Amino acid sequence: MDKCPSCKQEKQGKYWCKNCKSVFLCPAQGCATENRNKDATECSRCGLLFEEYIRHHKMYRVCPKCKKKQGLSDPQCRYCRYWFNCPSCGHRVTSTSMLTCPRCATGLR
Ligand SMILES: [Zn+2]
Ligand SMILES: [Zn+2]
Ligand SMILES: [Zn+2]
Ligand SMILES: [Zn+2]
Repeated sequence: MDKCPSCKQEKQGKYWCKNCKSVFLCPAQGCATENRNKDATECSRCGLLFEEYIRHHKMYRVCPKCKKKQGLSDPQCRYCRYWFNCPSCGHRVTSTSMLTCPRCATGLR
């Protein structure tokens, strides 16, 4: 059996450790990004808040611009209209200062 790299107990889950709650793989559908930083609170790719998911099975993310919590599936912040993902190609928008998508140049305002 595999051991959890954080607590050294037997690993009891594919996505996160049931003992110490450290996340190995993002549990969001279609993401499954490896989490290399065990202190991370959210997925580096899709922004899923790990704690909300592990405790309540809720898929939330925090808007990097207005810091409000909302559903992960929305492509755009419903409060400040910040785009989390490009509306044309779905590329993740990582910076609040981006005016256009770096991949397809769609305007993000
Ligand atoms: Zn553990
Ligand atoms: Zn993810
Ligand atoms: Zn926002
Ligand atoms: Zn794009």
